[in-house]
Amino acid sequence: MTITSDVDHTIAQLREQVCDLHSRLTHYELVIWTAGNVSARVPGHELMVIKPSGADYESMTPADMVVCDLYGNLVDGDLAPSSDTAAHAYVYRHMRHVGGVVHTHSTYATAWAARGEPIPCVLTMAADEFGGDIPVGPFALIGDDSIGRGIVETLRDSRSPAVLMRNHGPFTIGRTAREAVKAAVMVEDVARTVHISRQLGPAQAIDTADVTRLFERYQNAYGQADRTDHTL
Ligand SMILES: [Zn+2]
Repeated sequence: MTITSDVDHTIAQLREQVCDLHSRLTHYELVIWTAGNVSARVPGHELMVIKPSGADYESMTPADMVVCDLYGNLVDGDLAPSSDTAAHAYVYRHMRHVGGVVHTHSTYATAWAARGEPIPCVLTMAADEFGGDIPVGPFALIGDDSIGRGIVETLRDSRSPAVLMRNHGPFTIGRTAREAVKAAVMVEDVARTVHISRQLGPAQAIDTADVTRLFERYQNAYGQADRTDHTL
């Protein structure tokens, strides 16, 4: 496949954005070593921009970000794409509204994934962002479409932009890569707070109708144009 000049500019911008968003993962202490990855769909093209495999967060540059097609094949870049590229690609193929995907092994969210337990919606901020419990996806091995299929099958019927893949960790989606990063930050924050509340006693559930009210207000009224700017 040849990248035509009309998308060169878009891809250059996305390489910068995706590289920069990786610094959020380290800033919020969601990743260690080279784990974790952010990708962005190239709007209007069957392409995505993603972190290369094994890249060092401290030294990665926009030029290191690689371009793949939506089957995970390398289209442009000097390095091999992230080992999670097939999962990201599967999500973009099957969820057309998704413009960004993030994966981390952030500690508290991954601890819930290890137990295979959904994070109950017991905080208004969880209702705002996730619209209910944060669901658990199936156990899946890396190497084929299993992880991507598990993400899509779990999130398709959920309002949540985050899924805890069993024994693995969180994957998050958004209309943009920035939104997906926000969801990755929020899922860890909610996972930590609910975990701590559990140590002190049972958490109080929020009425389902109130969860919906909170979610709809936050998603439709609060912040509008770019609600991610309020928290990142
Ligand atoms: Zn992983």
